[in-house]
Amino acid sequence: MDKRYDVLIVGGGMVGSTIACALGGSDLKVGVVEYRYPPAFDHDQAHDLRVSALSVASQNIIDMVGAWEGIISRRSCPYMRMKVWEADEARAATEFNADDIQQPYLGHIVENRVIQLALLERLKAFGNIDLICPATTVEIDYSPGCSLVRLDDGTELVGKLLVAADGGESRVRQAAGIGVHKWDYEQQALVASVKTSYPQQDITWQQFTATGPLAFLPLSGDNASLVWYNTPSEVKRLMALPEEPLMKELHQTFPAALGNIDQLFERGYFPLRRQHAQQYVAEGVALAGDSAHMIHPLAGQGVNIGLLDAAALAEVILKAERAGQDYSSLAVLKQYESERRNSNLLMMQTMDTFYRIFSNEILPLKLIRNIGLGIAERALPAKNKVMRFAMGLEGKLPALARLEEI
Ligand SMILES: Cc1cc2nc3c(=O)[nH]c(=O)nc-3n(C[C@H](O)[C@H](O)[C@H](O)COP(=O)(O)OP(=O)(O)OC[C@H]3O[C@@H](n4cnc5c(N)ncnc54)[C@H](O)[C@@H]3O)c2cc1C
Repeated sequence: MDKRYDVLIVGGGMVGSTIACALGGSDLKVGVVEYRYPPAFDHDQAHDLRVSALSVASQNIIDMVGAWEGIISRRSCPYMRMKVWEADEARAATEFNADDIQQPYLGHIVENRVIQLALLERLKAFGNIDLICPATTVEIDYSPGCSLVRLDDGTELVGKLLVAADGGESRVRQAAGIGVHKWDYEQQALVASVKTSYPQQDITWQQFTATGPLAFLPLSGDNASLVWYNTPSEVKRLMALPEEPLMKELHQTFPAALGNIDQLFERGYFPLRRQHAQQYVAEGVALAGDSAHMIHPLAGQGVNIGLLDAAALAEVILKAERAGQDYSSLAVLKQYESERRNSNLLMMQTMDTFYRIFSNEILPLKLIRNIGLGIAERALPAKNKVMRFAMGLEGKLPALARLEEI
């Protein structure tokens, strides 16, 4: 059986399903191939390990494609404040507050599964989109204008434009012969989902230490997600600890602001890689999200820039299609690349600078970051600009905001 699509998206994760929803209702026939459908959500379930801090720009994009309600009706936690400090909080700390820029909040912490479920539910409502899931891809053959994805049941899917939204190990990117620049950070992230002794918090905080930051992300109710960045050997040791000793170490290491940990639900660890595709597009193929870029998660920007990619790519495709141009041509796709690649590169470089400055004990750097945090706290215009940057509100606004006018 051979199914033909105008746009064939491999990967129905947060980014791939956003691209599909943005193309929903258009004249394009869209196919989304996804390995597995996420397990159904139930309010009684403990929070998942994988969560994302969604910026206001990401919320706008998800809302624009009609899936934000699906998130709010499930589970999310808005946060109004963000605080960062050195080991000695009294000397160098800075707090960002949504009130300072007249916004109701800085963002929401949401479980990745909730985001994906809301988007998949939305895309299933569009008549022009086929969700092919669960699906095991056995072969991806890139050929400009008629790329082929073969599934294990023999189904052949052909796409005029092939979109890679299949994550960091992207097989589409490899099939298209697009290389990457990459290196591993000498750091891993231990993530723990816990129940704390405090009620729901409206603040996310991060304390910088010599081995890496310690981060707190509030979840709904008295729950939280803790992230402990450290060397791979230390993360391995922590992962091997039984529950009680690990809770004790979390309690001893995390700042007093955390309070008591009443329960540890789950833990996991994530090797951290910096990876950037040498190009985002070629004739008949486009990369978006982690297939194009992987960045250090310390400022929680990975999926946020991925959703900006999704909005920009959908806008370029729809504009071209409505103007009677070939949306799979290199000339059209280059518009997407020029809109996103340099902007993502800037974000990656910023994260690298944070990583280098904030994860070591070299005295001059320690002084600089102490001074920096002190100045940041007092320099209100600069502080507000940083806040708007983190919220995705600086620079070019999400392209989708203008989609309806195309
Ligand atoms: C510890 C940690 C914390 C993070 N915190 C944040 C945060 O707070 N905020 C933030 O913005 N980002 C955060 N990130 C980054 C964020 O998780 C990623 O940027 C995001 O998951 C990328 O989404 P994606 O849809 O591009 O790729 P993925 O999430 O990798 O999704 C890819 C999808 O494609 C499917 N797939 C893959 N290959 C195939 C195939 N061949 N056939 C069919 N389906 C396929 C997969 O099943 C999956 O559903 C964090 C990352 C880490 C490691």
